[in-house]
Amino acid sequence: MLAEAAANRDVRAQNPEARMQQGWKSRLKRELKLITAHVARNLTHKTVNSYNWNWTAKYLDEVVAELVASLEVSLDAAGFVSTPTLSANDVAVAYAKEHGAELLKSISGKTKENVARLVAETLDKGDTLDVLAKKLRADFVFSPGRAEMIARTETAFAQTKGSLASYESLGHEGKEWLTAGDDRVDSGGSGPCIAAEAQGAIALDKAFVNGRDGPPAHPRCRCVLLPVTRLKKPKKKSLVRRTIERDDAGRILSITEEEHDA
Ligand SMILES: [Zn+2]
Repeated sequence: MLAEAAANRDVRAQNPEARMQQGWKSRLKRELKLITAHVARNLTHKTVNSYNWNWTAKYLDEVVAELVASLEVSLDAAGFVSTPTLSANDVAVAYAKEHGAELLKSISGKTKENVARLVAETLDKGDTLDVLAKKLRADFVFSPGRAEMIARTETAFAQTKGSLASYESLGHEGKEWLTAGDDRVDSGGSGPCIAAEAQGAIALDKAFVNGRDGPPAHPRCRCVLLPVTRLKKPKKKSLVRRTIERDDAGRILSITEEEHDA
């Protein structure tokens, strides 16, 4: 039993996406239980607002730990070069703290929206608490599928963030967006990916035409970001030297245009 628990811990340590998914599964499960108990105590339209939706206060530490683990793997994979003043852990912690709070806010916000809708529906129809409890259990916001989707998306974001920080530490000048290049890349959902790929190499600190720093551009995006060591210098504009030949009366006989470098 102990060996099994230790083995599970090892798997999670090696695979931050699995750890994140597990974390969200258990948080959503816990929230479902708390919210169901909360609405059972007093079911009115105000019930939803009196619940404690401050998930940042409840979960920020564990979400930050999961994001740090994910980012450290990405930084390592992309070859991040630490300096005495900036380690991979510093980069990971800074990102995780900033992004973790935003993530919790957005996920609790969407959850609240769905709970409010189901509570209103129950009150309008005069349904029982049991019906509401069943609907809450069946809702996507509390499902393992949502935990999986969050973990996958966050892993993709961490990969881009880790790649960008690493490319910069390695002295690369640019980046390139690469789609999976198979039939599943279509102009529908993958439109923003195809447009970014068509751009070719751009500077590291620039956003792609789809407004993003790198993949993902949509849920289940399989694109990757590539480093570009040197960006091609834009061609210098050449100047045109114009020689005008005139006759004695000042009429133009010919114009010769000659290009030369500026
Ligand atoms: Zn994509």
